[in-house]
Amino acid sequence: MNTAISILDGKSVSALGQGTWYMGDDPRKRTDEIKALRTGIDLGMEVIDTAEMYGDGRSEVLVGEAIAGRRDKVFLISKVLPSNASRKGTKAACENSLKRLGTDTLDMYLLHWQGRYPFAETVEAMLELVKEGKIRSWGVSNMDVPEMEEFYSISGGNTCAANEVLYNLSRRGIEFDLIPWCGKKKLPIIAYSPIEQGRVLDNSALRELGEKHGVTPAQITLAWVLRMPGVLAIPKAGSPGHVEENFGALSVSLTEDDMEILDENFPAPGRKVPLEML
Ligand code: NDP
Repeated sequence: MNTAISILDGKSVSALGQGTWYMGDDPRKRTDEIKALRTGIDLGMEVIDTAEMYGDGRSEVLVGEAIAGRRDKVFLISKVLPSNASRKGTKAACENSLKRLGTDTLDMYLLHWQGRYPFAETVEAMLELVKEGKIRSWGVSNMDVPEMEEFYSISGGNTCAANEVLYNLSRRGIEFDLIPWCGKKKLPIIAYSPIEQGRVLDNSALRELGEKHGVTPAQITLAWVLRMPGVLAIPKAGSPGHVEENFGALSVSLTEDDMEILDENFPAPGRKVPLEML
């Protein structure tokens, strides 16, 4: 299993990071959400993933509060909306994200999904942001193999540092072609919704495997995602208890028999499946 991933030249981070979609939306949950993120940082889960889209910036503001005084322990990722991804728009969106996050640099900045602007324009902006020190690296999200090939054909496009995509037991399509493609390019994959937003957790095979290992279905699900070389997972957890539980997945070793049971219950793709997104 991956316990660490090389995400930028020479920089290695825990293969388990933290997602933040919907965080900051409900004021009653705010204190717990901040505690949850800080618990993860203290456990060494460096990657925190947010986006200007999440709650119209509310997630970034909450993340900013959670990482204040801890910025050096965090590998901070945010994303530009496709509707902002022109050359000028990307740069302006980045400035706004930096302000909300209370930091002067992002570790990685992603194009959230494909929109109407040519990739070349977004790449140009990303490269300028790197030069200006506003971001340390850039990447993409929700891009399938044809889009990745298009990126790599653009000047500077092969400096892309990651592709963030939907991947979990019930969404295995990328195993057919995108994971092998990224593997060849040594491009890390950031697996979003790694526990399918909780929808897989009442599966009986997962419950039984959890009982066998003395762990929870969520931990089995995350351990399964992390078995794949080059893949980093970013579960979102709104309480310190869930963060600690998820962190425990790094210590779960699935056997070949376990893998067979999971394959029977959640079959691998036998052909190309268009990339799904949430
Ligand atoms: P996840 O698969 O991470 O599931 C989150 C849900 O699972 C929450 O309801 C959470 O509840 C629950 N949960 C977390 N830990 C446990 C646990 N140990 N036991 C039981 N339930 C648990 O879904 P997300 O869609 O949030 O994906 C993760 C992150 O990926 C996002 O937050 C976001 O940062 C990113 N993302 C990126 C996308 C993109 O297009 N690039 C699209 C979707 C997500 P609770 O809050 O109560 O802990």
